[in-house]
Amino acid sequence: MFKEAVAGFAASEIAPLVKAMDAKSELDAGLLAKLFENGFMGVEVEERFGGSGASFTAMCCVIEELAKVDPAVSTCVDVHSTVVNNTLNFWGGEDLKARYLPRLASEIVGSFCLSEPGSGSDAFALATRAERKADGSWVLNGEKAWITNAEHAGVFLVFANADPSLGYKGITCFAVDGGAPGLTVGRKEDKLGIRASSTCPVVLEDVVVGPEAVLGDVGAGYKYAIGILNEGRIGIGAQMVGLAQGCFDATMPYLFERSQFGSAVGDFQGMQMQYAEVATEIAAARLLVYNAARKKEQGLPFIADAAMAKLKASRVAELSASKCIEWMGGVGFMKDYPAEKFFRDCKVGQIYEGTSNIQLLTIAKDIKAQYGK
Ligand SMILES: Cc1cc2nc3c(=O)[nH]c(=O)nc-3n(C[C@H](O)[C@H](O)[C@H](O)COP(=O)(O)OP(=O)(O)OC[C@H]3O[C@@H](n4cnc5c(N)ncnc54)[C@H](O)[C@@H]3O)c2cc1C
Repeated sequence: MFKEAVAGFAASEIAPLVKAMDAKSELDAGLLAKLFENGFMGVEVEERFGGSGASFTAMCCVIEELAKVDPAVSTCVDVHSTVVNNTLNFWGGEDLKARYLPRLASEIVGSFCLSEPGSGSDAFALATRAERKADGSWVLNGEKAWITNAEHAGVFLVFANADPSLGYKGITCFAVDGGAPGLTVGRKEDKLGIRASSTCPVVLEDVVVGPEAVLGDVGAGYKYAIGILNEGRIGIGAQMVGLAQGCFDATMPYLFERSQFGSAVGDFQGMQMQYAEVATEIAAARLLVYNAARKKEQGLPFIADAAMAKLKASRVAELSASKCIEWMGGVGFMKDYPAEKFFRDCKVGQIYEGTSNIQLLTIAKDIKAQYGK
């Protein structure tokens, strides 16, 4: 029922805008407002802060349904919700939550600023510095790279090292208002896919924030970053499952409309074997995603499950989009049909929130913990 409501919204409000937003590399401003109005930006935010107080699985369903129609829109909602809102939700003090969560659920977009030009997979090697002044305020300096939602963000969660002598144990998370003096959002990146989702560098030059901007504890930022990305990966898995299914659904009818050799191309056994295979892979990826979400919600160990879900779902998304193009033949290669965009959109699933290699390392670490010495 809930999934159907999101699907209905995606069909009526997003689908008509997908092509133009992709071509312009821009999220429609009216659509962004509707994402807030319809509660998609505050799914897990507690009701006392204006959200729906719904579950993580419900959030994954929203991401999946949005991605079936436009993975770019789902990126915006996913990063805002599973990463920014939940970092505040889990580790922000009452004051920070009260300050930001009601607005994040209703009007401002959030960005999560961890990566830097010199630190991606090795995120804790970040070079952004936070210097504490005698009056307790902090001065932030550094450069963040590839920051989702930065173009529209009203709040940036910025990871900076407050004490490099402690290594990664100096990393601290700060909530910085959009428009803070010294914070500059750079030129939007020109990307292969999810083009309507903004990705920008963010530069911090002597950005001054008060002590109240520290999220949680000084020096605990690395725990928050890894903690939120571990579960955020389930959200990316949901996005990739949605993409795989959306592309499949948009393609299959054509296989029964197109005839060659006197038969619908979808009736050739060589085609049946392929689409049955892809449908099975999508179903398997979905179960991995839902199972990881279930384990997280039940407080069970889920880190390897989340890594498997993201790894598998992003591969299945690529498989589905690639096969759909092949199955449509020449028209599949044209921009007139959705498969071409899904194919461009899928690749990022193997990169952000930890590349596929990083997911494999996470899974291997878990296996070694069970079997190694
Ligand atoms: C569209 C988009 C949006 C993004 N949004 C955000 C955002 O909102 N916030 C944010 O902080 N970041 C964001 N990122 C950054 C993203 O998280 C990083 O790009 C990603 O973590 C990979 O880092 P990197 O690009 O530096 O690649 P690198 O770390 O340089 O990796 C290059 C290659 O080396 C491999 N590699 C690296 N280390 C190892 C290892 N130990 N073993 C084996 N292989 C390894 C990788 O798998 C990869 O294939 C975004 C990126 C993109 C593309």
